[in-house]
This record gives sequence, structure tokens and C-alpha cells, in this order.
Amino acid sequence: MKISPLIFYCYLAAWGATTGNGTQKMTPPPSHPNIYLVTIDTLRSDHIRCYGYERIETPALDELAKQGIRFTKAFTPSPITNTSHVSILTGLQPSSHGVSDFGVPLTVEHATLPEILQKQGYQTAAFIGSVILDSKTLAPGLDRGFTYYDSFPQQTETKSRWGRIERRGMDVVERAENWLGAHGAIPQFVWVHLYDPHDPYEPPPPYSEIYKGRLYDGEVAYADSALGHFLAYLKKQNLYEDALIFVLGDHGEGLGEHGEDTHGIFLYDATTHVPLLIKLPNEREASRVVDEQVRTLDVMPTILELLSVPAPTRTDGNSLGPLILGRKEASRTVLGETEYPLRFGWAPLRSIRHEGRKFIEAPRPEFYDLESDPGETRNRYVPWDAMTKKLRGMLREMSSKLPAARKPSPGAISPDTVAELRALGYLGAADARSSTDVPEPSFLPDPKDKIEQQNLLHTAMMASEDGRRDDARAALKKLLKLDNKFSIALTLLGHLEIEAGNYKEAAAYLGQACELGPTDAVAARDYGRALELSGDLPGARNALQRSLKLNPNQFEGRLLLGQVYLKLREPKVAEEEFEAALLLKPAGEEAQVGLAKALLGEKRFSDAVEFLRATTSAGSNHAELFELLAEAYRNLGKPEEAQRAEEQANRVRGTKSPR
Ligand SMILES: [Zn+2]
Repeated sequence: MKISPLIFYCYLAAWGATTGNGTQKMTPPPSHPNIYLVTIDTLRSDHIRCYGYERIETPALDELAKQGIRFTKAFTPSPITNTSHVSILTGLQPSSHGVSDFGVPLTVEHATLPEILQKQGYQTAAFIGSVILDSKTLAPGLDRGFTYYDSFPQQTETKSRWGRIERRGMDVVERAENWLGAHGAIPQFVWVHLYDPHDPYEPPPPYSEIYKGRLYDGEVAYADSALGHFLAYLKKQNLYEDALIFVLGDHGEGLGEHGEDTHGIFLYDATTHVPLLIKLPNEREASRVVDEQVRTLDVMPTILELLSVPAPTRTDGNSLGPLILGRKEASRTVLGETEYPLRFGWAPLRSIRHEGRKFIEAPRPEFYDLESDPGETRNRYVPWDAMTKKLRGMLREMSSKLPAARKPSPGAISPDTVAELRALGYLGAADARSSTDVPEPSFLPDPKDKIEQQNLLHTAMMASEDGRRDDARAALKKLLKLDNKFSIALTLLGHLEIEAGNYKEAAAYLGQACELGPTDAVAARDYGRALELSGDLPGARNALQRSLKLNPNQFEGRLLLGQVYLKLREPKVAEEEFEAALLLKPAGEEAQVGLAKALLGEKRFSDAVEFLRATTSAGSNHAELFELLAEAYRNLGKPEEAQRAEEQANRVRGTKSPR
């Protein structure tokens, strides 16, 4: 049953009317209340006190539940942060909005909640707790419609994860509060994202002490305290009472259930069941508990209906209006999707949760009766069972109506961003080395058979980020014992050994990765780099030539091959590689240095002078370029010019040295 927008609008307007007490405070018109959306990352609903978990204190969430509506069965369509947030902000399934991967842009054809609200005169701002949602790198397009989007600094000297890839909840809410303090204009839509419960679990004191031994709970309690701080601020500013407040999780956390430590791979309730609380203006419908199954996709249509603003032509969610008003309706069907297993070369999963049952489409399909088996521990899948057939049919039919997600483009994110992803415990698309070009996903390994490997990889990436190289090495070696052909593990081990200065070991691992992925240009380049570092120049040359044959447009590869040729005393061929590198990146100073060295090596001193003078006068300011210029002048018998170039080199070094 769909409630008429008009009735709902009148209802909201009526709330405003009853509170219109004639005071002077800045109050948005009742039809356009301030809206605060708080998403708490990685938040399982069964680890919150008002959801029945007694081993935790979550006073802010509990109070909000008392003053608003608590949905006991809310589900995300995706267990991955970007994808699930895009679904919240668009009301679309992942297969509709297409953001199934990190770095995949949210395209303009999909209207976003802030964009629509902005057209309604809202001031819009977003405060994020992790680079995973940074619109400049990993979440392009997510800032659309936000007047202010609090991205992370692009350059930072700090090695600490705080401020570089993550912000503590209290930092996020203080940034939001500062913005609110400086921007009095109303109405406002402010989205606050608290990342804390995401692993690694490192709550600050006193939560680290109170929740010793179960630090995930400590992070949840800490995030709750940040939420409490934010709500207290709104109250102090008289912004709370009339506001619409939505608080929800983007996905849950495995915590070892079904063998999954974190999230992303599976579609069980552990990672898809999230809390959802809605506080209406003036605490309307306070303490209502809704037990019907709903989706985080329904958030945007609900907000738009409350505001009596038409929803975009296409949404996969529906307003929660009828349920908010206490009307009964059939539980909504939840579709789940995860493409993340593809990163590892494993089958993606799809699920449907309908009338107390769940069907998961996988190479080995699963069927659960959630009423008798809420933990999804007894797979009752029988292909000819009537209910299984029904759910499978529904899943196929509903999925077929969704526009297929575009293919993620591995080149869309930079190597630096891949490093950030790894620091957060995720593999970048460029890491997906396994062969995934099979005719259909069911031919790929079932993630159920691979989850231990994923956990070990995750452990290794987090340990590596933390500087615990031995732990990372141990996890990766354990992984290779499970599967000695797991090229991602070989690659990561190779990188680890390069960092540790063990170049021969690195070359051995990367060589194996190369054999397993003979068409992988990046693998061949990494192998070439390790060989070069270990002193095997002919080997490095061969690997790099192979890499560039697979993908000729690699600046790093061209640069490296040029340097190898210089060391092999083949300046003529080196020159060609540096020239090719400079075509890809004209201001690449390392390639400029390389080209100058090649020209000197060929004894083409006049050409070297001409090139270096042009380069340095065009703005390149690398001390080595001036040193090479001095060398060229000396060889041409021009000591005065050489002297001037030396002085210039010293000046450049002088201005750069105090860093
Ligand atoms: Zn998340």
C-alpha cells in the first residue's frame, strides 16, 4: 500500500503547525525540515543496546529509538561501503546505479538525494570518516549535490592513518558542527559518516578499556558517543526538535560468522542486517517499532515523500511512509548483491530475502528458513523444492529488470589510491589478477570455499599497513600453503620483500605471479622492477619488454626500462624509452633526467644542452637536471657555463633541502 504523498505532506505540515509557537528562532518551513543523515559504518544491529544487545552501552542510539521509529529488520543491498552508500543516496540497487566497485563514478543520470534537496533550496553538506568515500579518489560523483563535501587532504605527510585515510567519529562530528556553526542558512541537509566500527578495531580510551577483548563493541560504543555529541549539539542550537533524523548502518560485520571476519564477500544477515532509526519532527510516532522487512534503499524515497517532492523516475526503493504511520503492509523483498569476490577471481553473489526465507545464488546455491534458522547455518537448498524455485525465479526476474552494472574499469584509480585501499583492508581492481574471463560467474570458485584465504589476505594487508611486516609475511605464507597458485598473495609478498630490501626473494615471488598471469602487464612490470633491484639487468629488460608489449602506455614501465638500458650501457635504446615515457607524461622529471643521461652517454653534448635548457626553462626544477647540464657544458669545453649550472643545482638543492 502506498500512501498518497499529499496525505503525508499534510501530515508533516500539521506537525509543523502544532509547533508554530511564534518564537524568533530560525525555523525552516514545516514542509522543509532540516534533515540529518548519519550513517555508521560496519554496524551490526545486534550489537546495539536498543536492539537487544545488553553487553554494550549505546545511549545515543537508544534515546533516538525512544524518540523515533526503530526498524528491526532493515537490510542493505550491498556489504561494501561505497556501493551501499550510493544505494542510500539514490534509492537504487547496485545493479541500477552501477557503483559496484571502488573508484567507479556515480554517473549523472542517477539523481542523488542531496542534488534533489539542493533544488528545493537546501544547503547540503557531507562529512566523511574514511577516504573510501572520498569523492576525489575512491567515490567519484558522490559529492554531486553537496554544497560542501569534506574530502580528505590530497597530500599529507603523516604516516598515521588518522587524518590520512580515516577520521575518528569525534573529529567527523566536530567538523560537521563547525560547518553548522558557520552556516546558519536553512533548510539544511547534512550527512555525517562515522567510520569507527570498521576494522581495525582501535577505539580510543576509555572504550579500549571498558571493551577490552571485544574491541568491535568498543568502536560501536565510541561511535555512539560521537553521535551523542552531534545530537547534543543540534539540541543546543535548537536544531533538533523540528529535524528529520535518519541513523543507519551501511552494512554489518561478519565477526567470524560463516568464516568471514569482516564484510564484502558474503550476503548473510551478519553483514546485511543493519539498524535503521528515524526521528520525525517533534518526536512524532515516538517509540514506534516496525518489524516489517525494509531496505536502506527506502531511505531516499521516504525523505522525498515526507517533503512532498517527486521522486526520480527510477528508484528501486519505496517510501517507508505507511510503516511510519503504523499501517501494516507486506514485508518488502530484499535483493543482495556483491561483486567484491570478483576481485579475488571468485564468483559474485546475489541473494533474495523474502517472507522469512533467503536464497543465495552461488556456484553452490543456498537456501535458508530464517524463522527456524536465523543464523543461516543449515543450507536447505534443493533445486526442485517449490519455495526454492519460487525465490530463484523472483531473484532472476527482479535482477533482469535492473540495468546491468557497468564493468568496473581497473584503470580508474591511481596506484596511490590502490595503496590507500589496501591500507583499509581492500584489494584494488588492479590487484585482481586471477582469470575472471570465464563465460559465466558460476564457473568461478565459490567464495564459501575461499573465505579463509580472504581473511588471511585481509590480515596481511592490515599488518602491512601497520608496519608489522613479519605478521603480514606469515599470513601470506599461510595463504600460499592453502593455494600456492594464488597470484595476489605472491604479488603482495613480492611487494613486501621489495620494501624489506630482499630483492632476490621479491623477484622469486613476482616471477611466479608472472607465470600465473602471463597476460598481466602490471605483474610483468613488478617482476622487472624486482629483477632490476636484485641486479639481474638482462632479466629485468626481458620482463619489462614483455610488460610493455602487453600495455605500451605505462610511464613507470618505460621509465624503468630506460634506466635498465642505461645500466646496460645502451644509451641509444634508453633514449627511445625515455622519449616514449615523456610522451605519456611530458613533465616527468625522472624521465627527463634519464633522457639527458642517455644523450650524455651517446656523447651528444650539444643535444643534451639544448634539451636541458629547454626543460629547465619550461619549469623543471630538479637539481640533477642542472648537474647534467653542467656535465654537458664541461664536455663542450665551456667551464663558465658549467659553473653557472652547478651553482643553479646548488641553489635548487638549497631550497629543497630543509624538508
Ligand atoms: Zn562500510
